[in-house]
Amino acid sequence: MDKKFVYMFEEGRAEMKALLGGKGANLAEMTQIGLLVPPGFTITTEVCRYYTEHGEFPSGLMDDVRAALAKVEEKMRKQFGDAKNPLLVSVRSGAPISMPGMMDTVLNLGLNDTTVEGLAAITGNRRFAIDSYRRFLQMFGNVVEGIDHSVFEKALEDVKRSRGVKFDTELDTEALEEVVRRFKAILEKEGKLVMDPHEQLEMAIRAVFESWNNPRAKVYREINNISDDIGTAVNVQSMVFGNTGDDSGTGVAFTRNPSTGAKEIYGEFLVNAQGEDVVAGIRTPLPLSEMKGIMPEIFTQLQYVFNVLERRYRDMQDIEFTIEHGTLYLLQTRTGKRTPQAALRIAVDMAKENIITEKEAIMRVTPEILEALLHKRIDPNAEYTPLTKGLNASPGAASGKVVFDTDLAAEIGDREDVILVRPETTPDDIHGLAKSRGVLTVRGGMTSHAAVVARGMGKPCVSGCEDIHIEGDHFTVNGVVVKEGDVITIDGGTGEVIVGEVPMIEPEMSDEFSEILEWSDEVSGIGVRANADTPEDARKAVEFGAQGIGLCRTEHMFMAQDRLPIVQEMIMATTKEERQAALEKILPMQKEDFIGIFREMKGRPVTIRLLDPPLHEFLPDREQLMIDVAVGREKGEDVSSKERMLRVVESLSELNPMLGFRGCRLGIIYPEIYEMQVRAIIEAALHVRETDGLEIRPEIMIPLVGHINELRTLKKRLEAVISDILKEHGAEMSYLFGTMIEIPRAALTADEIATEAEFFSFGTNDLTQTTFGFSRDDAEGKFLQHYVEKGILEQDPFQVLDQQGVGELMKMAIEKGKKVRKDIKLGICGEHGGEPKTIDFCYRIGLSYVSCSPFRVPIARLAAAHATIRNESA
Ligand code: PEP
Ligand code: MG
Repeated sequence: MDKKFVYMFEEGRAEMKALLGGKGANLAEMTQIGLLVPPGFTITTEVCRYYTEHGEFPSGLMDDVRAALAKVEEKMRKQFGDAKNPLLVSVRSGAPISMPGMMDTVLNLGLNDTTVEGLAAITGNRRFAIDSYRRFLQMFGNVVEGIDHSVFEKALEDVKRSRGVKFDTELDTEALEEVVRRFKAILEKEGKLVMDPHEQLEMAIRAVFESWNNPRAKVYREINNISDDIGTAVNVQSMVFGNTGDDSGTGVAFTRNPSTGAKEIYGEFLVNAQGEDVVAGIRTPLPLSEMKGIMPEIFTQLQYVFNVLERRYRDMQDIEFTIEHGTLYLLQTRTGKRTPQAALRIAVDMAKENIITEKEAIMRVTPEILEALLHKRIDPNAEYTPLTKGLNASPGAASGKVVFDTDLAAEIGDREDVILVRPETTPDDIHGLAKSRGVLTVRGGMTSHAAVVARGMGKPCVSGCEDIHIEGDHFTVNGVVVKEGDVITIDGGTGEVIVGEVPMIEPEMSDEFSEILEWSDEVSGIGVRANADTPEDARKAVEFGAQGIGLCRTEHMFMAQDRLPIVQEMIMATTKEERQAALEKILPMQKEDFIGIFREMKGRPVTIRLLDPPLHEFLPDREQLMIDVAVGREKGEDVSSKERMLRVVESLSELNPMLGFRGCRLGIIYPEIYEMQVRAIIEAALHVRETDGLEIRPEIMIPLVGHINELRTLKKRLEAVISDILKEHGAEMSYLFGTMIEIPRAALTADEIATEAEFFSFGTNDLTQTTFGFSRDDAEGKFLQHYVEKGILEQDPFQVLDQQGVGELMKMAIEKGKKVRKDIKLGICGEHGGEPKTIDFCYRIGLSYVSCSPFRVPIARLAAAHATIRNESA
């Protein structure tokens, strides 16, 4: 082996991690850029590999070490082993890949009975010198000589007991001298007391190399897939002391405020102190800003250092420093931890300061960071014990009084904070949901009604909380009783349910927030639309930066309290004429909705889906009706209308309503409904064109198509209607006619479907349900959670798109669709449309947009940019 074994810090660079290890390369880098690091050198990983193979050092290693040490002595103007002014060193491991705490370290090496007196004299702090000595003896005894910790711990305990004290810090100098005597006796008894500093050094280097193969390091490498062959470097670095007088000190600093991200001096320091004093809390450190008055020169130097390190490492740094007799030494720099708010601000500021590019800034803001900033959330410092846990169905946290009755929630929700607690929610519960702070359901998954609606409203929702048993005016969980009116907190981000109120943090929508999203839009190769059903939602969508509406679910307009009776009239109609009469009453209302939406969207594209859900969803509950009829009869009331309603409900009742009479099947059996809807759409668009001068090209979408003939039949009929409407108005208008792809058969025959459809929108909620054969309303609460916990499925496919299965169908549909219609418009409007991994997939398979609830639009915009940048550079 004819190699250079030892590198002075001046000789290394950050890029030499493989040879010098991470720590060595970083120390070298700081030294190279002219920052003062306590002098030292690195023994390479090659030496470790040689040692591992041969069980001995390569010949000449210790000569090189001594030569390097001499250079360090010269720089420090101290001598290793000197009685008056001794140089002490640390000997640390440092692998190319960080293995925190897995290998060994020895500090204060070079201390013995003579040098400890020199240290005491030069620091003027005898207690500190003795304390360092006892720490060294224990570390050396344990790490190098392999004597068990507990032996030293017991000796220390004995002295503490004899002095009647509880903490190490309470031991005085004399007591520490006693500890030193006992530690030395332990080492002597084993014949392992080494007083020669050079011998100590050689043994410590050997011990660090050996620790590369200690059991915990091996296990760590196995778990983290790190090769056993790379070896560790050894760093030998001079110790510096911050407790040598009033021109000394120690501190920690962040180059920016880690809590707000502001570019300001942030950190704390202590004059005439050692790092341990800060950790032990013996003295309270001063804020770094006060250093300006106390050590102005050091303060200026630190400001310079901050700048240099940030520009070199291109990120906010967390720094440890020590001042020894007016000289500032940097002991460590690493990327600093920060709050979500700070992460965002730092990324944006650094791009503006030209430290990083805008694209890098975008990539540094993770979707989780935005998510955390978008919602009110539980204060991370709050202490609480959750009562139980359900699905984290809609993020954010809320506290309020438990209310079981939807009408009651609707009634008092304006005056008081309430949490609606329901076995499950149905469209009937919308008015109560709207007035509640959040919703907790016993049944239902991530795409259950409650979850979808809550996400749409930006309200917290915990669903599928099956531990809860609702019994009349209270619920029980594992023996705990929560009564109506009791306050609970739900965290829709974690699924936790907590009794009582918990401190919260408000959402923060800063300037940086808008900025990072504007930058995201500029680079994005995939659009972001919103799922919005009302003018109000549409306004929110635009506010959050949506480029259009990807899904307007028209049924939500039918659910409004004042419309429901008319919709019921329509459903109960026994003749076509009766149905048409009811529809004529609905038409103006529906038209007004569309006018409102078109106005809010100001010409941006709007995809409107014709009626989709099974009709029984608009009717009262069957059991309730049966009770009402029975009770009414007993009282002698006229129950004929209720009886009629019950008959209709019974006739519409299905075993599998989600696979039943819904979607385009409704439109085919009752064409009048869809005819009314397209009239409302076209007339609204004509109206807004006239009043607001907005050119609108409505996108009419048919749900749940599985066979081309379904689409063909409907298209033929509806196009004729539209043509009549346009003739009536003497107007022209272009529109698009397309379909949801949410039934596997539609994907499999997408080439046929594309002959009629001008666009596809993937309804991945239903497509996941039908591809897996999992009921979207039941599976998550019943078995999916278990599947995910046990690793049967990696993720809940209703949250993160199943790329291998459902995604494969999407790819097939796109390929087939494009073959027939090259310019077919492609989007996704299932709940997955706001999920970052899914967005990445959608970008890769070539969708033109994703659509999600307005509140998720900011995250989707960021994720769309991430997908673009990631795949561009891949
Ligand atoms: C879907 O199925 O993915 C979809 C968007 O439609 P809905 O959730 O209304 O069934
Ligand atoms: Mg659907």
